[in-house]
Amino acid sequence: MNPWFAKAIILVATLAIIIIPASLHHRSSEVKVVKSRKGPLERVLLTLTSLGFLLPLIWVATPVLSFADYPLRPVPFIAGIICLAAGLWLHYRSHADLGANWSISLELREKHQLVTRGIYRHARHPMYLALLLYSSGQTLVLPNWVAGPSYLVAVALLFSLRVGPEERMMLEEFGKDYEAYVARTKRLVPGVW
Ligand code: SAH
Repeated sequence: MNPWFAKAIILVATLAIIIIPASLHHRSSEVKVVKSRKGPLERVLLTLTSLGFLLPLIWVATPVLSFADYPLRPVPFIAGIICLAAGLWLHYRSHADLGANWSISLELREKHQLVTRGIYRHARHPMYLALLLYSSGQTLVLPNWVAGPSYLVAVALLFSLRVGPEERMMLEEFGKDYEAYVARTKRLVPGVW
């Protein structure tokens, strides 16, 4: 298959994943951050995630990563589009349900509310699941050994190193309410884990 199919899909998906939070939270930056856990590890993770996110765009726009290209095949391409679409849908749902409580980092905002309704009724980290689905989709669609899995590696690292500190922060802030929420939900996949 012509790699331009992959380039077009990567561009559309990247645009969508940027537009979704931007359109839903255009006023949330006005809500003051009252608690921040943005330590050195969090900064490193955010930098790696940005880099992992940028590499696919570099692959689309320049030939610098072409040494790691491989042929595009229809089966992974279609499977990747399905993962990208599922990830984007979940990304939209979780951003809509978190509303002004969303932050790109480990932060609590003024009048922060614990969200346990909507998609958050089924699992505690649907946004991370969305990013894992999206980045898996990108790995399948993008026929390059470096740019294909770059975001998946970064998101997997972000999830595994951030989920513990994030849950501790939420437990400190919301106490018994968060304890009860943890007791009745799974982290990522409803009924599984
Ligand atoms: N881990 C969540 C949210 C990621 S965004 C998910 O994957 O869906 C990260 C920020 O969201 C955290 O800094 C925290 O302030 C906020 N947050 C996480 N879970 C929340 C919840 N259930 N209710 C309200 N805010 C939450």
